[in-house]
Amino acid sequence: MGSDNDTDSRQKVVIVGSGPAGLTAALYTARANLTPLVLEGDEPGGQLTTTTDVENFPGFPDGIQGPEMMNLFRTQAEKFGAVCQREKVTRVELESRPYKVHYAGKVVEAESLIISTGASAKYLGLESEQLLRNKGVTACATCDGFFFKGMEVAVVGGGDTAMEEATFLTRFCPKVYVIHRRDKLRASKVMQDRALKNEKIQMVWDSTIEEVLDPAADKVTGLKLRNLKTDEVSELAVEGLFLAIGHRPNTAFLDGALKVNDTGYLVTDERTRTAKPGVFACGDCVDFRYRQAVTAAGTGCQSAMEAAWFLEEQDQEA
Ligand SMILES: Cc1cc2nc3c(=O)[nH]c(=O)nc-3n(C[C@H](O)[C@H](O)[C@H](O)COP(=O)(O)OP(=O)(O)OC[C@H]3O[C@@H](n4cnc5c(N)ncnc54)[C@H](O)[C@@H]3O)c2cc1C
Repeated sequence: MGSDNDTDSRQKVVIVGSGPAGLTAALYTARANLTPLVLEGDEPGGQLTTTTDVENFPGFPDGIQGPEMMNLFRTQAEKFGAVCQREKVTRVELESRPYKVHYAGKVVEAESLIISTGASAKYLGLESEQLLRNKGVTACATCDGFFFKGMEVAVVGGGDTAMEEATFLTRFCPKVYVIHRRDKLRASKVMQDRALKNEKIQMVWDSTIEEVLDPAADKVTGLKLRNLKTDEVSELAVEGLFLAIGHRPNTAFLDGALKVNDTGYLVTDERTRTAKPGVFACGDCVDFRYRQAVTAAGTGCQSAMEAAWFLEEQDQEA
């Protein structure tokens, strides 16, 4: 293999990321006979490989385990010729086509590029929280709320997402505590009003979570809270903790090569096109609203079809 300055291969389509968006894009571009190269990153299969039951992806009436579902996605894409490599892209050069994609000391040239690098939920950074991930600690009420039917739970955060998640959880949970470090919310007035009027929602102001209880029991039994005004420490009995303190789109490696919004999400038009011809973006690295596997897969399909049409137009012009 060559040095960082050499070109190791030239591809019609390079897909960066291997979650539902990237692997759907891989399936469609593979079936369009474009033999896509998928650079999978550090988390082959994406976020769903970190969860257990997925009950809302159509076609699986009995649910499916996240890692198993993503293996099926990969197998299906590879069956039609997608080439998946466990490589992390470190840099892209998008000044002119073919674009250059750098990874592990190699450079691949791409006639078209699909970015599907997802986003990561922000966690508090507590050891107990990490030990109890998927054992009562989660970052997605839409995905996991149903599993907490009849239980008292807590949401941490103070923005629109926290209000939305808390309100959604009252469909299943008799009591939803919202833990917020300040004495007022950042959420929009309409979202605040909706949440604060809901009798099942109880605010816990001026408080931070010191510890999620109880890793020794291997499940969430409560939270150790500290009141930032009084310094008082207390325990709150809950069976679930929902993080709603934001997401970080995985777009830093692009280093300004593509336009992002003020929170780092990639900006595309309604056809998943970025401002660079032949560069498309899909899934959670664009979508700060829905953040679901099925929507990621849907936009992955869009990007793949757009890439195929783009390449066809280029061939005709040549
Ligand atoms: C715990 C949990 C449970 C969830 N449960 C559900 C559920 O039940 N139902 C549902 O619909 N949704 C669920 N979601 C949300 C769902 O996982 C996401 O909406 C979906 O995975 C987004 O897909 P994506 O392809 O856009 O990105 P991701 O799944 O985030 O995949 C991103 C990919 O990009 C790769 N990558 C990142 N940076 C680079 C780089 N520099 N170079 C190369 N590759 C890179 C990663 O390795 C990864 O493969 C859940 C999420 C979590 C965290």
